[in-house]
Amino acid sequence: MHAIFLYNPGVVQYDYGISHPFRIERVWLTEHLCRRLGLFDDPADEVRSYEAATRDELLVAHDSTYLDVLAGVSEGVYPPGLALHGLSTGDNPIFSGMWDYSLDTVGGSLTGARIIASGEAQQVFHPGGGLHHAQRQRAAGFCYVNDVVIAIDHLLAQGKRVFYLDIDAHHGDGVERVFYETPRVLNLSIHQDGRTIFPGSGFINDIGQGEGTGFSVNVPLLPSMSDESYFAVWDAIVTPLIEVFRPDVIVTELGADALQGDPLASLGLRLRGWWELLRRMAAWQLPWLAVGGGGYDLGNAMRAWTLAWGAMIAWDPVDRLPQPPAEMPGAAAGMAWPADFWSAPLAVGGARADGEVTAAIIRQVRQHVFPHHGLTP
Ligand SMILES: [Zn+2]
Repeated sequence: MHAIFLYNPGVVQYDYGISHPFRIERVWLTEHLCRRLGLFDDPADEVRSYEAATRDELLVAHDSTYLDVLAGVSEGVYPPGLALHGLSTGDNPIFSGMWDYSLDTVGGSLTGARIIASGEAQQVFHPGGGLHHAQRQRAAGFCYVNDVVIAIDHLLAQGKRVFYLDIDAHHGDGVERVFYETPRVLNLSIHQDGRTIFPGSGFINDIGQGEGTGFSVNVPLLPSMSDESYFAVWDAIVTPLIEVFRPDVIVTELGADALQGDPLASLGLRLRGWWELLRRMAAWQLPWLAVGGGGYDLGNAMRAWTLAWGAMIAWDPVDRLPQPPAEMPGAAAGMAWPADFWSAPLAVGGARADGEVTAAIIRQVRQHVFPHHGLTP
């Protein structure tokens, strides 16, 4: 078994701005924690850097005019109509090096897709990826370029059937839109209900169009829903669909903002539940490309992504967290280091099992989607 952790140490130089919640330091923290725990010690498991993507490779997911604007603002050129492209907003600020950062992010996920498609490794994790909101002509939700779309497109071009599973707290709208009419990607997003959170989409009756009808699946959960709801969704929706779809490859967007205590979302998934979901993904034993995504509590994100890598290499997690390093970059320097591996930050709403509401959500999703796959709702 061979697993590859894609990490470019230079990525931590980029900064959305000191008060912005999207912290690139999360990737540094994850690599650090994995290393301290000895998760790269086996010669079969490798940390590898990667080449940045080229502008041409970005054209798969973005219009040329948008890329010109993105490259321009990164150099201090401010053309009119920035707002049309979602730029220079609170969510999507302009910052130094953002064009290179975009090329780097896509480069990592595209490298991962190439490794998976070639069969060089069965598991690849690029924690710096997962910018699932970026649109063809527009930045959205902290995402300037859609590395997920570009990675999946490469896998499709290599003839793969792709199961895309997105467990970020926010609906994976930018990815869904691109593959909404194809049956070659089964696109399943489990997220916080769009009536309560950005981007306000991803409802039960959004199931794809044309030939793709039934191949986009949305499972909107209510705030505070926790491990039990995720497991029920897994058993009743994820498992039957993957069995009937029979993908060649899985691509997972592992936004850690689904965890309890995230400052920008209000789901109640715990780290133990998260670990169980990761174990279930690994148990499929399919070629697996994982990318990061959201996750605005740094302690949650670094532990969640360490667990993701751990699941890929069949790690048996420990309870004790190493002491924090003497020096940490940027905003990580001021973070609250978690007390142990599993405890969550305090949640505003707490966690609730709410089995009946979950059952109703599951029932409706199955009614909308399952007949398109010859499954009984
Ligand atoms: Zn998110």
